[in-house]
Order: sequence, then structure tokens, then C-alpha cells
Amino acid sequence: MSRKKNFFAGPSVLPMEVLQQLHEDLLDYKGSGLSMVEASHRGQPFEDMYHECLNLLRELMGIPENYDIFFLGGGATLQFSMIPMNFLRPGTVADYIKSGTWANKATSDAKKLGDVHLYYDGTENNFTSLPDPKSVKPSPNSSYLYLCSNETIGGIEWQDWPDVGDVPLIADMSSDLLSRAVPVEKFAMIYGGVQKNLGPAGATLVILRKDMLERQNKNLTAYLDYRLHAEGEGLYNTPPVFSIWAVKLVLEWIKKNGGAEGMAKRAQLKSSIIYDAIDSSDGYYRSPVDAAYRSKMNIVFRLGSDELEKKFLAETKAAGMLGLKGHRSVGGLRASIYNSLPVEDVQALADLMKEFQRVNG
Ligand SMILES: *Cc1c(COP(=O)(O)O)cnc(C)c1O
Repeated sequence: MSRKKNFFAGPSVLPMEVLQQLHEDLLDYKGSGLSMVEASHRGQPFEDMYHECLNLLRELMGIPENYDIFFLGGGATLQFSMIPMNFLRPGTVADYIKSGTWANKATSDAKKLGDVHLYYDGTENNFTSLPDPKSVKPSPNSSYLYLCSNETIGGIEWQDWPDVGDVPLIADMSSDLLSRAVPVEKFAMIYGGVQKNLGPAGATLVILRKDMLERQNKNLTAYLDYRLHAEGEGLYNTPPVFSIWAVKLVLEWIKKNGGAEGMAKRAQLKSSIIYDAIDSSDGYYRSPVDAAYRSKMNIVFRLGSDELEKKFLAETKAAGMLGLKGHRSVGGLRASIYNSLPVEDVQALADLMKEFQRVNG
């Protein structure tokens, strides 16, 4: 079988070993006579697998005991509503850092539910930069400060975190989960859809500091109330079983490949292969974003004209490379190079970029 080189932004590439394991175990999970996806989520095979998954997450991300971990449905998008519903208290504000498509969507949902203070608005620089983390100071009556750690569409990523004292810091890490070591204790909540870096679509990982449950709004309906998910250890209702199983296998793969530090090294290596190709092209390829905040997961770049970009896309496709078209809202080109994309695939793209420039430059 010849596998495509998968640069899709999400859902996205999974490790070959994980796909093979899923394939092998799909019909008969470890000799149980049942598939994991037809077993009860209240039964032993699921519960054992689930707790292994949670333990691996705790270990690989360094999640302290005073945080609950659970997987929800509804995508990262549902969290845009759940966060203000639960934590934006009347008479306070929530600080939002409007840094691009994803933070903007979170901001606009929060505005429908309470008072939002835009701590930072990247509109003027067309969402190509971020505030200096050291300069970030939340409002005096802030319920929380919200940021998106990696803007998947714009291609910018926080390299360091603001210090916000007692104000809860909440981050959408959908597109850079476990791509580097993160000091979880700095955050009151970290969440992300798993379909970029950790597994197939269907589950959203939520990591929530326990004391946040004391700051909640009252009268929330069941599914939208974090307390019920925390108290039920993520099994208040049927969890996304298939995704969780696949995430567990991806976590084992991450552990085998050096954990968060190993992923950070891979991300550094892979992203520098592409950024070097851009920077050494004498302006033939252009990165539109502030170099200080270049994403190591989603590399956005441009060529001199729409025609050239079209031709480039056609050539990548012919070479078995998929997903390099920029998001329809911003155009241009984008290479998403998540954890499990092999280094050789990234090198193949850089080689194609150089050859394309030689022929068309
Ligand atoms: C993909 C993405 C989302 C949206 O995720 P869904 O699971 O489709 O709701 C939100 N935030 C970021 C940073 C993303 O990359």
C-alpha cells in the first residue's frame, strides 16, 4: 500500500502503527470475543483501557492530581459556549485574546453569554502576531483569561505563557496538544479537540483544575455542567469510545517516541525544515506571520501569485501530498505537520519546494 503524505489540518495523520493496531483489534479486542466499539462503557474492557488512557495522559502531560480529565462530545466548538456558561460570572468580565479564527469564534460565543473584555485584538495586524506574554495583565474583575495556544488557520503559536496571578488561565490547545511540554499548573483549564494531534475526530479533551468547580455559575443543564463530568470521571454519559481507544494508542506511540520532549524535538526539526526552505528562497516563498510566533504545527506560506500557488498545489498532489491548500478564509498554502507526520514526508515537501522554485523561479 502506498500511503499519501498527509498535511491536512484536521482530521489529520495518525501513526501507521496505531492504524494497524486498530485494524487488528477491531473485530476481537484482546481475545475478548467483542470489539471495543461494541462493549459497554460500564464494562471491564472499556474501563481498563480508559484508565490506562487517563494515566498515560497524566504521565505524558504532567497533569497534577488536582485536575480532572475527561473527554466530551461537541468538538472544541462546544467549549466556546461551555466555558462562559460555567465560569463567566455575572458582574465580572472575561478577558479574551483575539488572535485569529479560533479565538475569535470563542470570543463571539462568550459575548452572547456575558461581558467580554478584549485584552488583545489582532485585527490590525491581520492576526499575524500575538501579544508579548509578559505584558498580559488581566482585568481587575476578571473571571478568567482565555487564549488559543496555536491558531491553526493563521499559523501563529504562543511560545511562552502569561503570568496572570490568581485569575484562571484557560487555553484552547486543539492543534498543539502534546507537541511540547506545557506547565499544566499554570492553567485552570486546558482543552482541545483530539483530531489534530491525538486521534480521530469525536472527542474533546478537557483538563480542569478542581477548584474551578467552586467558581461555577448555577442552574446549568446536565451535559453543559463540568461538575457532572468531573464527578462521573468523564463517564456521566456515554463517552466517545472509539476516539478514546485510538487516543490511548496514540499516547503509547508518543511515549515510545520520547513523550512531550520527544514530540517537541520532532516539531522543532520538522518545522525548521520547512521554515528554512522558505527563508532560503530569496522571497520566492513568503511566511506572512511574525517570526517570533511562527507555529511549529501549521506552517502558512505564500507564493508570488494565485497561479503559482495553484500550480504548486497541483504538483504536490501529483507527488502524493495532500492538504496543502490554505484555509478557505485566508487562502495561500499551509502545511500542517502534526506529531505523527513522518520527518521524511516533511523533507519530501521541502525538496519539492526547492525543485518547484528551480523550475518556475
Ligand atoms: C480545529 C480547531 C477547533 C475546532 O474544533 P472542532 O472539534 O471542529 O469543534 C477549535 N480550536 C482550534 C485551535 C482548532 O484547531
